[in-house]
Amino acid sequence: KTTVKSDIEIAQASTMKHIVEIAMKMGLEEDDLELFGKYKAKISNEALTKLKTNESGKIILVTSINPTPAGEGKSTVTVGLGDAFTRIGKKAMIAMREPSLGPTMGIKGGATGGGYSQVLPMEDINLHFTGDLHAITTANNALAALIDNHLQQGNELNIDQRRIVWKRAVDLNDRALRKVIIGLGGPLQGVPREDGFDITVASEIMAVLCLAKDLKDLKLRLSRMVVAYNINKEPVTVADLGVEGALTLLLKEAVKPNLVQTIEHTPALIHGGPFANIAHGCNSVIATIAAAKLADYVITEGGFGADLGAEKFLHIKSRSAGIKPEAVVIVATIRALKMHGGVAKTELEKENISSLILGFANLQKHIETIKSFGLPVVIAINKFITDTDLEVQTLLDWCQKENVAVALTEVWEKGGAGGIELAEKLLSVIEKDENDFHSLYDLSDSIEQKVRTIVQKVYGGKDVEFSPKAKKQLVDFEKFGWSNLAVCMAKSQYSLSDDPTKLGRPTDFIVNVREFKPSIGAGFIVALTGEVMTMPGLPKKPAALNMDVDENGNAVGLF
Ligand code: ADP
Repeated sequence: KTTVKSDIEIAQASTMKHIVEIAMKMGLEEDDLELFGKYKAKISNEALTKLKTNESGKIILVTSINPTPAGEGKSTVTVGLGDAFTRIGKKAMIAMREPSLGPTMGIKGGATGGGYSQVLPMEDINLHFTGDLHAITTANNALAALIDNHLQQGNELNIDQRRIVWKRAVDLNDRALRKVIIGLGGPLQGVPREDGFDITVASEIMAVLCLAKDLKDLKLRLSRMVVAYNINKEPVTVADLGVEGALTLLLKEAVKPNLVQTIEHTPALIHGGPFANIAHGCNSVIATIAAAKLADYVITEGGFGADLGAEKFLHIKSRSAGIKPEAVVIVATIRALKMHGGVAKTELEKENISSLILGFANLQKHIETIKSFGLPVVIAINKFITDTDLEVQTLLDWCQKENVAVALTEVWEKGGAGGIELAEKLLSVIEKDENDFHSLYDLSDSIEQKVRTIVQKVYGGKDVEFSPKAKKQLVDFEKFGWSNLAVCMAKSQYSLSDDPTKLGRPTDFIVNVREFKPSIGAGFIVALTGEVMTMPGLPKKPAALNMDVDENGNAVGLF
């Protein structure tokens, strides 16, 4: 068996250029940057304002089939595709999410790509980076502390302490914090109540930061966030508490996008990181728009499969930011398709054509979905060394039969050189295919109808059922004037349905919405389905067990 270098070994053996040099390639100057050492920088507010008059480049969205637990290589393909565009002489930029320490320390590993398609410095990006996640966590918890202080100091707003919906947050997988009791110990220790923690990337502040157009919009969105209900069951907002100024202040640096580079020195903006299964799953609007103003081609991703990240990119982010993708890449792997065809995880390395063919049904659904949004599609086969030639050929032939563009993509092994065919296919579909991008629902549809549309048109399900609690919430939402907001589904990433064990292309299923969570600042209503949790837990053998640091301060075992 050939020895394969780990992501971190490849990253550490790469040479980075000074970030000023990377910025200058995009027409920025040193003054436009706020440097974090030599290889990371934030783009200043002045520079972002200056960019507004530039023409916008073309946005390409990368999504995937329903993933396996390890991920399907979407970030890897996103990075490699950016490098491929650079290699064929295009001015390209990547816009991606910031990793969360939950999956980094837990099961999935980092979110900086893999093999020879990575963004650097990967150790920094995967750990504390420029502190954005810290700032978001702190703003979230400052608000929690201010709410509890409000109760302690007389509760002028008559907040019902049993109806406080604002939770605390930490950017770790920590199941023990899902439900906690706070304020114990007597009158001086606060008002006792039940509370809980969400992972930071599921917090509304993360969503707000990612959807805000600028600092002013950020403040407006923060002010609208609902934190609790009063004794008359009316919503209490951040504006009622009068703390939107303080929260915005805590986020004033975090709202600026972070510039880094790939192994091949393609510029990348890495900013904001909501999960796609429990939040809206896309990097910040500020970064995507800045990238489009700087480059002719922007490669960006939505988390997990096209049923989650892409649906939310197209319904939530695009609508809110007024942007439209030119084309969509669906990343598929032979391994995951075989799993969708019924192969067990332990048997994936063996050739299995009949199961592979069965698994195509999952890919087919995602192709149909993206086409139903009116967008051109290219399939990227993210090649693993275990894929056999016959397996790859079978998938290529199927795509041809389905009349969908496909490119074998070897960016993990070869960097940008392995993505040139994909880049060229994209240029061709952008030029030739019709782009009639449209939403699948109207904001004026009822919340129930919006959820049903997503379940039927994007998941391919039969219908949706709402719990008695969810139904009751909808009546209140109508009263509060929230029915015109978008819907953000919280659903398992592994299946098109809300049951993670139903792989492939399940049909006739019912999705169960157990509860809604209004995110009025973000501008959507979260629909919680199945068992999905807003605070994940760690697996039996967390990735943390492999991590270390050498005496020179270099990270070891970060995948
Ligand atoms: P996603 O964005 O879909 O979650 P990532 O791009 O983060 O997936 O990749 C997940 C992991 O899989 C990374 O550790 C990466 O190195 C590895 N990986 C991705 N593509 C390949 C490939 N073609 N061969 C081997 N490993 C890969």
